[in-house]
Amino acid sequence: MLSATGLKARASDLGFNLVGITPARPAPHLDAFLRWVEAGRHGEMGYLAREDRLARRRDLNLILPGVRSLVLVGLDYRSLPPLPALTDPSRGRIAAYAWGVDYHGLMTPRLEELAGGLGAEFRVYVDTGAILERDYGWQAGLGFIGKNTMLIHPRRGSNFFLGVLLTMAEFDAYDQPGPATRCGTCTRCLAACPTDAFCEPYVLDAQRCISYLTIEHKGIPPRELRPLTGNWVFGCDICQDVCPWNRFAVQTQVTEFFPVSVDRAAPPLADLLTLDEAGFAARFGRSPIERIGRVRLVRNACLAAGNSRDATLIAPLQSLLSDLHPLIRLHAAWALARLAGPEAVAPLRTALDGETDAEVRQELAACLEEAGQNC
Ligand code: SF4
Ligand code: SF4
Repeated sequence: MLSATGLKARASDLGFNLVGITPARPAPHLDAFLRWVEAGRHGEMGYLAREDRLARRRDLNLILPGVRSLVLVGLDYRSLPPLPALTDPSRGRIAAYAWGVDYHGLMTPRLEELAGGLGAEFRVYVDTGAILERDYGWQAGLGFIGKNTMLIHPRRGSNFFLGVLLTMAEFDAYDQPGPATRCGTCTRCLAACPTDAFCEPYVLDAQRCISYLTIEHKGIPPRELRPLTGNWVFGCDICQDVCPWNRFAVQTQVTEFFPVSVDRAAPPLADLLTLDEAGFAARFGRSPIERIGRVRLVRNACLAAGNSRDATLIAPLQSLLSDLHPLIRLHAAWALARLAGPEAVAPLRTALDGETDAEVRQELAACLEEAGQNC
């Protein structure tokens, strides 16, 4: 049997800000998760509904046979308070967790080092496992689940990454679960969500969430949601930023999570709309944004440009009507129509004449119709 105190001291030495240990048991809110998947709230994230992954969520032994304990660690990521530039509509807005380097590459080796000292078989996950991390975070005493579905620590808020280590080791002490909730009568996060993504407290419809729409969703966001996404181009922090518990957010000690400049947290939309593949790699390589690629980032920038009322973005949007990728052409058309109104009609007509992709043609026709033209 291993010392829980010793493990926690090592976790702290490795830079983790939170650590808790819980016996390996089924996740306490697994049924609620299964109902959420059954209702299709996960949208395009089909991996969440895959039977083999659901089986692993039901039985931790399918991940690590003989697993006895789970160690949950938290690492603060908030580097700076919300900056004025973030709300400048001519800039795109990036969620705070993605301002610096990719956290997977930074946390996973530390977690493996922690696990390696236990002398027992282990698995580690940072966001990648078929496991309800937040639920186990609650069970390991790291906080409570808020109405915004985040794990919230009463003295640090919710701006931390969560990692989980499964081990066959047993400890001499386990943590008690956190409080059931500390939200009380507060509903700030529910009221502040621009897309009305909470079906009810504690239940998120991912398909309406800006984080999902800008990161996970690979296709065409619904037309009715596009004006609601504001200037977000990667993720969304609103339901965390309004949470009173985040008054206690602690500035991260990890310098790699700081943005190298304001432009990294809030890049000018003019820059994003003119990005090529090499520019994307130079600017966003080794960051969490890398995984969505240039096409999806430019798609998101088009949406933000359409919402910006910034006429200087009309010219780059017009150029994107002839981009190689239909997804970009489609969203450039939507943004151009929204931004330029009747002036968009001529370039949209020209684009429609030369367009071969059925979905882009449909969007161009809808945009022209909205501009009051009979096409
Ligand atoms: Fe709503 Fe943004 Fe929170 Fe998603 S991340 S639920 S869009 S406030
Ligand atoms: Fe709970 Fe209010 Fe925070 Fe939402 S904003 S998670 S209701 S405390």
